[in-house]
Amino acid sequence: MSDLKYCQGPKCHMHMTQDRIKGPKGNKTYQTRRRSSLYYGSGNFCSMWCYNEWAEVFIDRAVDHFGRLTEPKKLTEQNAWIKNYDWRGNADESHRHYFLNTITKERRSLTEAQYNDSNYTLNER
Ligand SMILES: [Zn+2]
Repeated sequence: MSDLKYCQGPKCHMHMTQDRIKGPKGNKTYQTRRRSSLYYGSGNFCSMWCYNEWAEVFIDRAVDHFGRLTEPKKLTEQNAWIKNYDWRGNADESHRHYFLNTITKERRSLTEAQYNDSNYTLNER
């Protein structure tokens, strides 16, 4: 039970649902949800409601902290690579993974491991 984590919603405990009532008899309170898996906001929130309440409070500070855009990003040949694959329904044939440059339409083969590696990219940062 050690890897239970709390919903990061600042008002999670204020949503009065039965599953949030915790504590010893006679001293029960509504508490922040705690789960082995949370499904919203990269596993940080129990619901879109809690996710949005976090954003209302913290989003400006988060954007400023991690870098607010002050000029447009531009799609060029150097950063237009996306990952895709051709579906193969046949059990003994795997899907064909590839990079596709959305501007030049060039395709380059990818292994499945490269496809699944979110840090693996051809794009210039
Ligand atoms: Zn929550």
